[in-house]
Amino acid sequence: MAPVYHTHTYIHTYIHTYIHTYIHTYIHTKWQGEWDYITKGAITKTFFPKIADRLKLKINVTPNFTTMVTGHGNIKSYLYKYKIMDSPMCSCKRGEQIIDHILFDCELVEQERDRLKAAVLRSENWPMNKDILINRYSKNFKKFTDSLSLDKL
Ligand SMILES: [Zn+2]
Repeated sequence: MAPVYHTHTYIHTYIHTYIHTYIHTYIHTKWQGEWDYITKGAITKTFFPKIADRLKLKINVTPNFTTMVTGHGNIKSYLYKYKIMDSPMCSCKRGEQIIDHILFDCELVEQERDRLKAAVLRSENWPMNKDILINRYSKNFKKFTDSLSLDKL
């Protein structure tokens, strides 16, 4: 009896895994296809060129985090685009307040950035690609976004 039972379990598991993999592959391929096609979410794409990477990331999303990976939210380039502010310039007056400015250039968040840089520089170079940053240093990046006082910049 035992071999029959085992064979049955084996086939059942095999079929289950096959269907599971098939569905996941199908959904990801289709979704990735749409993701590649749309031009909206251009900033988010620089962080997550592959949807699978975003799905792997286990972090509690906060408003600051969302703003930093989408460019939509409490940031002057966005508020200016939607006519909520008269200018996209950052209060540091050294450039437009876009995501890259906050992440890489703005001197008003130097302290916050230094903590993130310190983590990265232990094994890699700074600046680095945003998709690598968010994949390898998701916790540090999350901490960085949460430490920003976007409404004071
Ligand atoms: Zn600035």
